[in-house]
Amino acid sequence: MRLILMGAPGSGKGTEAKLLSERLNIPHISTGDILRRAMAEGQELGKTVRRYVEEGGLVPDEVMIEVIGVRIREDDCRRGFILDGFPRSLAQAESLQRTLNETNSALNLVVNLEASSQILIERLSGRRVCRRCQAVFHIKNLPPKKEGVCDHCGGKLYQRRDDKEEIVRRRIELYKVEAEKLLSYYRGERLLEAVNSEKGPQETLGEILVNLGAKV
Ligand code: AMP
Repeated sequence: MRLILMGAPGSGKGTEAKLLSERLNIPHISTGDILRRAMAEGQELGKTVRRYVEEGGLVPDEVMIEVIGVRIREDDCRRGFILDGFPRSLAQAESLQRTLNETNSALNLVVNLEASSQILIERLSGRRVCRRCQAVFHIKNLPPKKEGVCDHCGGKLYQRRDDKEEIVRRRIELYKVEAEKLLSYYRGERLLEAVNSEKGPQETLGEILVNLGAKV
């Protein structure tokens, strides 16, 4: 099963990708997580992308195409994968298509998660992430048992620099511009389904699974 989750920042891509990955037993590939890890570990890739990520801009296509081209050729992706945060441009979508052709595989579904701007801003500006295991919390909707501490591994929670309200607004605007062409590309391929993600994670998951069932 090969699927892409699209949606503005805060639409629930990461949460749904994690749930789907557990349910379908295929890897969740988040380009944002890959880049943040590279930055935290001081990798060369991290140094290249830091300024784009911290300002909420887009990392150049050639860098992202290389990162994903390597990742989806790894063994654990043979049975499929869930892409979260990629592609973000037509050039990225086309390169993904070329990689899939080369490996004799194809996409099953592209889901666009939809939520109002107000909900997106509320979700992102309250989001806190564990520095150690990347688990995600929310100061109101999903607070940790102890403030500032991860329930799962005891790591320290922090607010992503790009989750500050003013940068969040910029990322949402940027998403609208970048998504338009991608959505029409995948609509043309008859792969696109819209799912409202304003309800809870489980309801949204149910709807994605229904769409997936209809496609395979
Ligand atoms: P995300 O966690 O998906 O919101 O990604 C965080 C940041 O990583 C984005 O704001 C971009 O700076 C960068 N990024 C992640 N994926 C991509 C991509 N496919 N193309 C360009 N930049 C990306």
